[in-house]
Amino acid sequence: MSFNLDRREVLTAGAIGVLGTGVQAARLAPSISKAGFAAVVKAMQAVVGADWVFADPDSLHPYTKSYVPDPHHAHAPVGAVCPETVEQVQALLKIANQYKQPLWPVSTGKNMGYGMTTAATPGQMILDLKRMNRILEVDPDLGTALIEPGVTYQQLSDYLAENNIPLWIDVPTIGPIASPVGNTLDRGVGYTPYGDHLTFQCGMEVVLPNGEILRTGMGSIKGTNAWQAFKYGYGPVHDGLFTQSNFGVVTKMGLWLMPKPPAYKPFMIRHPEMGDVGKIVETMRPLRVASLIPNVNLMMSAAYQLAMFNRRSDVWSGEGSISDEAVKKAAKANGLGMWNTYFALYGTEQSIAAIEPIVRGAIGASGGEVLTEAEMSGNPWFHHHATLMRGGLSLEEIGLVRWKGNGGGLAWFAPVAAAKGSETVGQTALAKEILGKYGFDYTAAYAIGWRELHHIIALLYDKSDPAEELKADQCYREMVVRFGEKGWASYRTGVPSMALVSQQYGQVNRDFNKTLKHAIDPNHIIAPGKSGIV
Ligand SMILES: Cc1cc2nc3c(=O)[nH]c(=O)nc-3n(C[C@H](O)[C@H](O)[C@H](O)COP(=O)(O)OP(=O)(O)OC[C@H]3O[C@@H](n4cnc5c(N)ncnc54)[C@H](O)[C@@H]3O)c2cc1C
Repeated sequence: MSFNLDRREVLTAGAIGVLGTGVQAARLAPSISKAGFAAVVKAMQAVVGADWVFADPDSLHPYTKSYVPDPHHAHAPVGAVCPETVEQVQALLKIANQYKQPLWPVSTGKNMGYGMTTAATPGQMILDLKRMNRILEVDPDLGTALIEPGVTYQQLSDYLAENNIPLWIDVPTIGPIASPVGNTLDRGVGYTPYGDHLTFQCGMEVVLPNGEILRTGMGSIKGTNAWQAFKYGYGPVHDGLFTQSNFGVVTKMGLWLMPKPPAYKPFMIRHPEMGDVGKIVETMRPLRVASLIPNVNLMMSAAYQLAMFNRRSDVWSGEGSISDEAVKKAAKANGLGMWNTYFALYGTEQSIAAIEPIVRGAIGASGGEVLTEAEMSGNPWFHHHATLMRGGLSLEEIGLVRWKGNGGGLAWFAPVAAAKGSETVGQTALAKEILGKYGFDYTAAYAIGWRELHHIIALLYDKSDPAEELKADQCYREMVVRFGEKGWASYRTGVPSMALVSQQYGQVNRDFNKTLKHAIDPNHIIAPGKSGIV
């Protein structure tokens, strides 16, 4: 159930067509001297073998690549180390504590648009868990899995197919190369009814900074068969503490998997105007809150969708941000409206036939056209979302990073709001104003999770142009600050803006995290700066 990676595969896996952030500029952490770092490398080589420690610029290069703006080269790591077992993780933490060398854990390291394998503060080594890639258990009756951090969505999907297990996975839009563990720990999302990944996670094994092993939920009960069945165990629920944090290294995770339904029907709703954004949310929220529609509703702006499969120059040759008129023209030519909302129904033929008229009736009142495979067959965007909403694997959205220039620049800005139409109208106007000021395009989507909206804005820029990279950094920070002033803070952010976003969540919140951090990790060896926690 595991894949054997050789060293070269690991290097190329990290090197998917993006630019380096400048390994020469990487500097050591303030807690360690040059001689201390040399001793760390030697000690780590003794644990994992010399082939699995990367500390020279050439071998480290894949770990320095990132789409996010890093104009001052502040985020490149100084090294990387790849353990294969939990015991090796424990031994590496012991070395890190001894020399005060910070380690930034990643599972598959594909946190694209949030920093990939770069770290929040200078001088960290990447603790790369790709080699720990065993699927430890799948229970077809309970619909559960227990996996290691390096397992990819592709690997899990292949395992289910090869073993004829009728369970679906739930994937982010770059599923094949990413990991359920890494995605869940950054509180990522997918598009089936199991799309809120933390909700559908059950049980973790965590190596604490002092090397002890904590199993959450039922995991520390001898003889239990409920570790992946019951989330809470007894006493405080710990799992959330290890997400978007730096309190431990997660080495196993339980997941719930959705039984494959007998019938599945994907839909798209086409709205013609940018200004329709408010009424779409007002229409979809009641259907979502009542679970008549059981999966995340993705409201895609046409510009985002065009950017997946086009170069900007195909659609726009004018100055500044692309105009709504140009977007509308290109969208229409491709069977799209200015907003295209995707959702699906799951169940039996009979249950879908019973719910579909209710959903259609509600949506019709918003002026949207409800479309299905019958009308949209062959449309690549419809096909893309129909694939995602059944947990299918696709890498098509990576095309976004080719929208502008050849540098592969992308930073996700993801402010949250209550699922109300007035919020989308305000957020869209503010985003367009700020992006427009810097000459960037409004390439965005809204996801109606349950009662909340995630506004997912892809700031697309050309990273090969240093002036544009600097501008993207400034634009991103302005969005964080000005959205924050209106109570719209991010649910997740990239390594350059973690401290900035954490400030918006207030002093009490920050002090609480700091107290925990200091108690659990007094030498600050795990991911200092993650989510602004130092
Ligand atoms: C075009 C495009 C589309 C995308 N679509 C989506 C989407 O639909 N949904 C979505 O959620 N994301 C999306 N992303 C963002 C991102 O690529 C995914 O979330 C991806 O799953 C994260 O990478 P990963 O799984 O390799 O996690 P990693 O990069 O391995 O981990 C993410 C972070 O979690 C922490 N972490 C990871 N493993 C551990 C561990 N074992 N112990 C402690 N901490 C750990 C670290 O801070 C790490 O930086 C998209 C990106 C792009 C470019």
